Amino acid sequence: MDVAVVGAGVLGLTCAVRLAEAGHRVKVTTAAAPADTTSAVAAALWYPYRAWPAESVTRWAARSRTVFAELAADCGTGVLLRAGRELLRSPAPHPWWAAAVPDLRRLTPEELPPGFVDGFGFTAPVIDMSRYLAWLLSRAGSLGVSIVVRRLSTVDDAEGDVVVNCTGLGSREFAGDQSLVPVRGQVVRLANPGLTEWLLDEDDPAGMTYVVPRHDDVVCGGTADVGADSGDPDRAVEAAILSRARALVPALVGAPVVSRGIGYRPTRPTVRVEVEDTARRPLVHCYGHGGAGVTLSWGCADDVVALLPDDQRTIG
Ligand SMILES: Cc1cc2nc3c(=O)[nH]c(=O)nc-3n(C[C@H](O)[C@H](O)[C@H](O)COP(=O)(O)OP(=O)(O)OC[C@H]3O[C@@H](n4cnc5c(N)ncnc54)[C@H](O)[C@@H]3O)c2cc1C
Repeated sequence: MDVAVVGAGVLGLTCAVRLAEAGHRVKVTTAAAPADTTSAVAAALWYPYRAWPAESVTRWAARSRTVFAELAADCGTGVLLRAGRELLRSPAPHPWWAAAVPDLRRLTPEELPPGFVDGFGFTAPVIDMSRYLAWLLSRAGSLGVSIVVRRLSTVDDAEGDVVVNCTGLGSREFAGDQSLVPVRGQVVRLANPGLTEWLLDEDDPAGMTYVVPRHDDVVCGGTADVGADSGDPDRAVEAAILSRARALVPALVGAPVVSRGIGYRPTRPTVRVEVEDTARRPLVHCYGHGGAGVTLSWGCADDVVALLPDDQRTIG
């Protein structure tokens, strides 16, 4: 079939790759180049964050984790496998997505910095989006996928037997979905002083903190401003992020800032992966991945392929 994928963030490109691998002719149309999408700003640690429902998210995350682990064997993909710690300020049960992580373990008291009473350790994919989106593009190109930069006003503007909607937050207009809520996130990237371990402290009363070492830099975050869908990186917010990150990881003191970013997580009550039967042709939606679009990408793309005609089901 001729499949029109709309959107070239991590979901659009991953769906395009899987659809082309399944033998379809795929054309991607996108309002912005991949490097200018929300996906390019992602930290991007494998971690289910602000994405629901639990059962589907756990399944998509587990599937994606397996694929990322395979991709990590090829240094050209930008995918790394890194050990890390999630630190907690009060005791907590195992996370709801624990089934997706084979080596998840509770931290010992010796592994907890002062101020923390609990936590989990596990190996997670870290996806360096500055390299990975380029790799996805080249993988799609090698499968014959074409890419056109153009904003589509409506689904009717797309050409194909089937349309796959991967417009992320753009689905507020493109799919008329008013349940989508942007959650603004700011990051600052420092030169990597040699770190390999990621760290996450979601409960800091001053704001969540994460430190994600990639190849050459370390992504430090973060913020989660619900409802905010505009704004430039704020220097005061950046200073607060750096102060929290450096308190957690003193090796970052003195590491220079190399870049900064701001993005808008596309959140909704549930990730939408389903077919909408329009009069003209099937429309497969794949958006609303919140703070976990990278984490869920391969699992969702597999479901999109399965949802094309002959196997139309609702998932999510
Ligand atoms: C600060 C921050 C940190 C994050 N960290 C992580 C993390 O650690 N792990 C993780 O898994 N996720 C993380 N995320 C979340 C992740 O970035 C998103 O879930 C993901 O990028 C969503 O991908 P997407 O492809 O759906 O959307 P996008 O990347 O926004 O792509 C949407 C695409 O649709 C196109 N489009 C929109 N409207 C139209 C239209 N009308 N016509 C044509 N094209 C259109 C856009 O141009 C774009 O190409 C983070 C996000 C932020 C902001």
